[in-house]
This record gives sequence, structure tokens and C-alpha cells, in this order.
Amino acid sequence: MNNLGCIFLEQGIDFEFDKVCDCCILHHDNRGLPVLLNNYHGEMIDWEYIFNVKAQRVAKQKEKTIFECENCYHLGEYFFSGERKISEFHFSHCRLCNAKCIYCSDEYSCSVQNYNTYPIIKDLIEKGYYKSGGEATFQGGEPTCMQNFDELIQLFTQYGTNVRVHSSAIKYSETVYNALEQNKGTIVISLDSGLKDTYFKIKQTDKFDIVCSNIKKYAQASKDNVIIKYIIIPGINDNIYEIDKFFRLIKSFGITTVALDLEIQYARKYNNKDVSNHIFLLVDYFNQKAQDLKIKVLIYSFLSYVLKNRNMKKLPKYIGKNNFLCSLYMIRYVDKRKNIEYKR
Ligand code: SF4
Ligand code: SF4
Repeated sequence: MNNLGCIFLEQGIDFEFDKVCDCCILHHDNRGLPVLLNNYHGEMIDWEYIFNVKAQRVAKQKEKTIFECENCYHLGEYFFSGERKISEFHFSHCRLCNAKCIYCSDEYSCSVQNYNTYPIIKDLIEKGYYKSGGEATFQGGEPTCMQNFDELIQLFTQYGTNVRVHSSAIKYSETVYNALEQNKGTIVISLDSGLKDTYFKIKQTDKFDIVCSNIKKYAQASKDNVIIKYIIIPGINDNIYEIDKFFRLIKSFGITTVALDLEIQYARKYNNKDVSNHIFLLVDYFNQKAQDLKIKVLIYSFLSYVLKNRNMKKLPKYIGKNNFLCSLYMIRYVDKRKNIEYKR
């Protein structure tokens, strides 16, 4: 008997570009998603069929963790209620985007509009398979470019599902503003920089000022429900100067939470244990800076995976030969935190 599971297996739905799945959690070891419908392009859904597939999968999971879910960080002790309802939503099917981030996969930023999920969610609600109290995550692409994006946000907030929008903030949404103001939603914006030039290098679009102005507007709705993300990109923003500028901006916006992650291809390429110690030190610097400013840091998935797996037992010898790393170490770990050893 296996008591491991997760809410997505039982009550989740994820709309992908050409399929429907339980969740959108791609593993670091390429296990693929738990698919519910293949070759899907926005057709109306036979919900009984979906719940039958889910029930069979859950039955297998109760015996032994299924292939797609092995080593997933969402797996935990879970009680399957047997309820045939959907409470967790992921919209990952939109590939339209108004930025061109250097860390993005080539399949995004295209100009093809994808299928419309609004009628599907309406149908789910009307047929009584909807459960409130969960979360609807909009990602992409750029979700504000999705068909019926505003209508979907309104629908979920009206029916009691919290919304989480991952946006470039190049396009402003009044509906998202309202959800934030009513404490029914969160927006996560990847700024990745504190300077206009760095932003341009990463996003390959000259919208830094517009994005900063939109962040300020969203922050007026709620300072706590706006999360600004910093993805560490080797060779571009992996330095103290940029991190300092980033925090100066965050402070001026009045934002209380930031998120930190590592650029996905980098994490994959270096396969966690080979990730440079320079990155680990920057993570520590970032955390210390946030702590000094009383800003909360969320460590996002790829970085948390990398951090969990790092196995440095002591300060690596080469740091002593590198002026930058050495001074960073001295400033952060010897001067300011005298009692804290460098433990890994
Ligand atoms: S355990 Fe992970 S892979 Fe499996 S359904 Fe849950 S989130 Fe998805
Ligand atoms: S905002 Fe997201 S989807 Fe758009 S280019 Fe950047 S990473 Fe890709």
C-alpha cells in the first residue's frame, strides 16, 4: 500500500498546447506529464471519461507510485477522497507572448493563438464537476494574450477559486488588478533585473519602464499578492551589482515578496551537483539582502531542486583563489554572520 499522492492526480486539470493532463509539473528526469487526453485542441470534454482515467490512475498510485510521479516534489502523504470534481486548474496551452526571453523555449513567443478554454470551464461548472477553494494557474506564453483571459479570471474569482497569473506585465490587466485587490489572486512577474539594459538583454524587448509602471499599479491593489521573480542567468544577471539594483526597485515598489529561481536550461545542463558554487553564493547573497530589507524570498522549483541536492561539505578550495568569490564570502559569512559557518 502506498500512501503517497497529490491533489493534482485526483482533482487537477492542466491544458497543454495539444493535450490535457493532471498537472503541468515537468520533471527534471524527463518522465513526461500524466496525460488525460492526447491530441486535444479545445473540444468539449467528456468529464465522466476524465474521472474514469483519474480513478484508474489513482488506483495504481495506491499500489505503487506511478512512473510520471516518481521523485516529484509535490508527492506527499495524501488521502484520496474519491470525489469526482476538479478544483486545481493549470492553463499552459497559450504560446503567444509579448516578450522573447533568452531562457524561453523556442516554441513560445509565436504568433499562433491557441484554443479557447472558457467554454470548457463553463461546461465543467454547469455539469456540477467544479469544486471551489482551489487555485487556477495561468502561465504560457503570456496569459494576458490568451482568448477570454479576463472572462476566465472573472469566472474563477466569482466561483471562489484563487487565481495565480504568471505574466510579463508588459500588458496590464484591470481584471487581475481587481482580483488582487479582493485578495483572490496573485501575480508573479519575472523582472530578472534591476537595470533597463539587463532587462533588454534578457527579455529582448525594450519594455522595462512599462513593466515597472505596471508593477507599481498592481502593487497599489495589493503589495503582498504581487511577487517579483529573479531568475539567475549565468553571465548576465549573476552579480551582486544587479541584485542590489533589483532590490532597490523592489523596495521602491513596496513589494513584500520576491521569488528566486535558476535558469532552467542551466540547471538541466549542469545537472544540479555540478552547478557552480558562484550560483550558490549568489543565492545566499540574495537571501541575505532580502532579509536585511525584510522581504520574503520564495525559492522556486528548479532552484529548490538544485539546492536540495547540493552536497558541498565545506567551502571549496578554489574560492580562496577567486577574488570576487572570496570577498563575497568574507562580506557575507565572516563579517556579518560571524557565528555562522559555511555549511553545506
Ligand atoms: S505527483 Fe507531481 S507529477 Fe504526479 S500528478 Fe502530482 S504534481 Fe503531477
Ligand atoms: S515571458 Fe514566458 S513565455 Fe514569454 S518569452 Fe519569456 S519565458 Fe517565454
